[in-house]
Parts: sequence; structure tokens; C-alpha cells
Amino acid sequence: MAKEMLECSFCGRKKPETNLLIAGIDAHICDKCIDQAHGIVLEELKQSKHSHGLGDLVLKKPKEIRSFLDQYVIGQDQTKKVMSVAVYNHYKRLMQKNHDDEVEIEKSNIIMVGQTGTGKTLVAKTIAKMLNVPLTIVDATVLTEAGYVGEDVESILTRLLQVADYDVAKAERGIVFIDEIDKIARKSDNPSITRDVSGEGVQQALLKLLEGTVVNVPPKGGRKHPDQKFIEVNTQNILFIAGGAFDGIERIISKRLNRQAVGYSASANTDQIDKDNLMQYIIPKDIKDFGLIPEIIGRLPVLSYMNPLDRETLRSILTEPKNALIKQYKKLFEMDNVEFSISEEALDYIVDKALEYKLGARGLRSLCEAILTDAMYDLPSSDEKTLHIEKSYAEHTLNKNMLQRLKAVS
Ligand code: ADP
Repeated sequence: MAKEMLECSFCGRKKPETNLLIAGIDAHICDKCIDQAHGIVLEELKQSKHSHGLGDLVLKKPKEIRSFLDQYVIGQDQTKKVMSVAVYNHYKRLMQKNHDDEVEIEKSNIIMVGQTGTGKTLVAKTIAKMLNVPLTIVDATVLTEAGYVGEDVESILTRLLQVADYDVAKAERGIVFIDEIDKIARKSDNPSITRDVSGEGVQQALLKLLEGTVVNVPPKGGRKHPDQKFIEVNTQNILFIAGGAFDGIERIISKRLNRQAVGYSASANTDQIDKDNLMQYIIPKDIKDFGLIPEIIGRLPVLSYMNPLDRETLRSILTEPKNALIKQYKKLFEMDNVEFSISEEALDYIVDKALEYKLGARGLRSLCEAILTDAMYDLPSSDEKTLHIEKSYAEHTLNKNMLQRLKAVS
């Protein structure tokens, strides 16, 4: 065949009408047909993901989920166990959906109660990382009822869509972490809340999302883009995890425990109650008494608590998790060819200071920064190849860079 007679075997365009004609064994294909075929392939892939809805989701058994959590989260055994089961069941439920079974498994949305900085967000982030699903973290305090200044509840889904790169199917099996859920508690039952707007309206608005509904979501969020087209998002398979400190809930728990002890039998074993960690006895009713409406509690059926971080836990957090702070600093120094090490005493000292100033796990980071900033400033321009931190150095730099200020405010 003469060269100028070559044509695309798919659309019949002659070679001069194409930008590119690629030869196969017995046929040719032009750039336009490649483009079109590529589009078809992508569409097909998307369809097949839709059809089983799970895409590249990796389902792990509860014990595997647990050991993944163990790599990042120290302690919090009860939450890890409860979470592992809830997440496993949630995704089992997704699988079942495709088989039209008769027994419908209900959603296992989760509520985590525990002081700030005990790892609630970390747990949610770790689960999302493991499942390879999009995660968005929203602060319940910015949510308002429609019509008030603030963000509509739908904005949660806008963010989830953004994280999922607007892949609706992906967003629909994502995780939403609602932080500070305790701050939208009803005022009347909870004297510590001083917000003007009652949180009950927000709770009502959240209800629908939690139970599963199709929501028209403004892709860019807010009311600033009135012309934007809505995207339909079904929240039925989105896993909601709510977290809150529920300051003062121990009093509610303690009151209930005492009442129970009196009510049931005189010899009730109130002695066996661990008064230092009442959180472990929490039941849904306590949350209701705190001011969340029963419907919300019903839609967050899995309840777990976070323990306050003690000395030992804080100490482990510094060095043990996969991305522990000390490991991160090692890496940072390594990039400057500096071998970094720190003595046990220095680590204990950092933990002591975090406890002394009630800085919690978040404080560990600022303490380390204060201790290491000078070194991180100087070493990259020096010939020093090792950095070893002893307690005396930590004490000195911390006093110089941070403690004076902390002392001033406390
Ligand atoms: P919360 O959501 O309960 O306020 P976070 O999950 O945001 O707390 O925790 C703050 C930081 O403290 C985390 O980024 C993490 O580095 C550290 N942290 C807190 N608790 C733990 C824990 N149990 N294990 C490991 N790190 C923790």
C-alpha cells in the first residue's frame, strides 16, 4: 500500500487528516480515536467502580484494623477495639448492600468521648488512611441551622467532595469526623455552654445526614456562589465519627453511679469504681443528660471513650508511633546528614514539663520545637555531623525559649 493511502482503521481518516497515526500489526489508529477510546476506558472503569461501590477499598478484619491503629495510636485500647469492630461492620454493610439481603445491617456511626488531645482525631485520621477513603474533619461549632450566620450542615459534604476530588462515589463511602459535638448540646441541660444560638437546631439538621439521605450539595460551598449547580450526595454509606470532650460529663456519670449504687443494693460496690477515670463507665444516657438529643445519640450507636494521657502514654507517644515526633526530628536532621539522638532523661524531662504545664500530647510538639530550634537553625550551616541532646541541654534551651513565657502566663 502506498504511504499516503494510510488511514485510521477506526474512523477512516486519511493520514494527512490526522495529527498522528499509530501503526499496529494489521491496522492503524489516529490520535482522535485514541482520545475517544481513552475516554471510553475511563468511563467504563468508573462504572465498574460504581457497580460494586467499593472501588479500591481495602477491607481488613478487626484485628488487622486494630494492629494498624496500634502503629499510630498509643493506648486507648477500648476505643481501638470498638472502632475496629464498628469500621469492619460498616464496610461489611457496604458489601452486603450489593447482594440485596433481607436483613439490613444498620450504620455504625461512632461517638468518641474524651478530653482534648487524647487522640480522637488521630484515630479517625488513621482509620481513613488505612481504608484509603476520603476524610473530612469539621468543627461542629461552626455549623448553624440554615438561615443563620455560619456554615450550613451541607457544607460538611462540600468538604468531603473536595477531598474526594469531586468523585461522588468516593465521597459517598468516605468518613466525616465531627469534632466538638458536645458544643452543640442543648443549653438548658448544660449550664457550661454559653453560646447564644441553641445547638438543638444544628443537631436536628445533622440528624438527616447521619441516618442517610440524598443531599443537594453546593460544590463550592457557602452562599457566595448562588449560581452553582448542586451535586447529589447520598450519605447512606458515609461513616460519621463524632468526637467531643464533654467537659463536666464525669459529674453526670458519677451522679448516676451513686444513684445506681443506692438504688440497687446497700452493699453495692461503689468502692470498685475507679474515681480517677469515670469516663470508662459512660453510657448513652449520660450523653443525653449532657444535652445531645436522643435522636442524635440513636444515630451514633457506637460509643467509646478516650482515657486521659498519663505519663507513660505521653512518653511512648514521643518515640513509638510510626510517625512519632522524635522519629520526625531524626528524619529532619538526617536530611542535613546529621545523626540525631536524645537521652532517656531528656525525654523524661520533656514529658514532665508537658504534665507540669498541662500541655497534653499536643504540647510535646511545642516543647520539642523549643528545645531543638537552635540546633535546627545552626546545624545546616555547620560541619557538625551529630547532635545528641542531654537533659541539661533540654533544660537550658527550654528555659530560654519557652518556660519563661509559660511561667509568665500561669
Ligand atoms: P483530640 O482529637 O482528641 O483533641 P488529637 O487526635 O488531635 O486529639 O491529638 C493531638 C495530637 O496528639 C495528635 O496529633 C498526636 O500527635 C498526639 N496524640 C494524642 N493522643 C495520642 C495517642 N493516644 N497516641 C499517639 N499520639 C497521640
